Amino acid sequence: MDKVLKIGLIGCGAIGKDHCRRIIEKVPGATVVAVASNTAKSADDLAAKYGIRSFGSDCNGLIADPEVEAVVITSIDSTHHDYVMEVLKHEKWCFCEKPLSQNAADCEEIIARELEIGKRLVQVGFMRRYDRGYAEMKRIIDSGEIGAPLLIKACHRNVSQGPGFQTENGITNVAIHELDICRWLLGDEYEDAQCVRVRQSANSTKGYDNPQVVLLRTKKGCFIDVEVQVADGYGYDIQCEVVCENGTVKLPDPYAVVRRSRPAGWDSLKPAECMPIMTDWKERFIEAYDIELCAWVDSVNKGKLTGPSAWDGYVACVAGDALNASRGTSQFLKVQTIEKPELYC
Ligand code: NAP
Repeated sequence: MDKVLKIGLIGCGAIGKDHCRRIIEKVPGATVVAVASNTAKSADDLAAKYGIRSFGSDCNGLIADPEVEAVVITSIDSTHHDYVMEVLKHEKWCFCEKPLSQNAADCEEIIARELEIGKRLVQVGFMRRYDRGYAEMKRIIDSGEIGAPLLIKACHRNVSQGPGFQTENGITNVAIHELDICRWLLGDEYEDAQCVRVRQSANSTKGYDNPQVVLLRTKKGCFIDVEVQVADGYGYDIQCEVVCENGTVKLPDPYAVVRRSRPAGWDSLKPAECMPIMTDWKERFIEAYDIELCAWVDSVNKGKLTGPSAWDGYVACVAGDALNASRGTSQFLKVQTIEKPELYC
């Protein structure tokens, strides 16, 4: 019989519930055997839905349990480092949702522990690498058919944020996706970075910057410009265009259908041309999450991780630290990493 990986999941919120369903219903070669969360009720409710074990709020108990072979971390950002370190203490496989941590120093500890074990055990949830649009962009760039990449123009717009969100989280939680995907698309590393405060939107009423503009320069001289809006008031809108020497590649919108109509209640207006805009990351990247977790389980069952590593999580955090430190200085700050260990080459 084929192997079935027994997974424990920590953090039963939005993406925790989604990944739990995904693994149980869609991912071959794996199942979720146990869940834990901050409040016991969240874990109990999810466990009851699938008839699996609840560890209540005992997240470290779940990690240590002998039945649990791999751990999926879907709790809030500030908890990731400690849970990853706990999983590594037991030398188990770990899928940690982005970000790996909220700063580079924490990620260095994770890297040091993996080096001590001598094996990659951690994968970071940078699921955009599994999105068909981004993957096709990378294939075209890597083919060299349209020349060397020169520039990236991107934007990451979110509808709204929950309580406690701060300006820095616009980088560590939101733009972290672009910090990973841009270096992956370009096959290049960051030289320096600057975060620019621009005119603030009327939607910015909760004390955090919105929008922010993220500027990055790479070692090969590419220039990256990312508009980050965390409260855009209309939708979840992800855009990315890479300008190369002899052409460009652009991320397609997930819906290709353009509708021309006179919407109900708009009788006095001219017919409008529109495309639906999603409001939710779950729907926008649904296929990428499926592919990502299938690929992770497959690589774990084969004994060798192939997806985004702790090193990738670390580099994104180094760039994030530089961006947050640059805010208000009008300066590009160096994106200075430690030397890349052989394990991640
Ligand atoms: P959420 O709905 O707020 O859920 C977060 C969960 O974390 C809550 O259920 C909460 O538990 C739990 N939690 C809080 N403190 C904890 C602790 N000390 N120990 C264990 N669990 C704890 O947030 P979310 O949207 O699901 O996001 C969760 C994580 O996934 C975040 O790190 C986020 O950045 C990441 N994420 C990634 C993507 C992506 O595109 N890759 C998309 C969304 C989210 P209780 O319910 O028990 O209080």
